[in-house]
Amino acid sequence: MQKFYVCPHCRGHLKVGDHIIFATSNKDKQKGLLLLSPQIGNYSSIKHPSFKYKDGDKIDFFCPLCQKGLSSSFDDNLIHVIMIDKDSKEYDIYFSRIAGERSTYQVSGDTVMVAGEHSSRYTYFKMSDKFKKYLQ
Ligand SMILES: [Zn+2]
Repeated sequence: MQKFYVCPHCRGHLKVGDHIIFATSNKDKQKGLLLLSPQIGNYSSIKHPSFKYKDGDKIDFFCPLCQKGLSSSFDDNLIHVIMIDKDSKEYDIYFSRIAGERSTYQVSGDTVMVAGEHSSRYTYFKMSDKFKKYLQ
């Protein structure tokens, strides 16, 4: 199924080919491009071997087009992008920027779909209240 991912700031397309492309930097402020799967729940990633981080490190995510930070407004540990499906319906996608932490949330109105073995670290009800505030 064809899906697009766009930056919430400039709405530039982040998905090229089979990957979503992010400009990132590790805790030593080293910069690198990080390619993630557009499949929700698929945590495989591609990067150059010289760009290093380890599990537990906080990775900074930036839009490669407008260079703005992609941290969500309500939780600094969650990255926010917009997914557009084949019917042009938009979803807010949030995922953890902590390396090795697998938690992804797909939000449309009051509906939250959760993926990833660590998603309970950001519990649904806690997220739900924040989402409601965020979406108003
Ligand atoms: Zn952008």
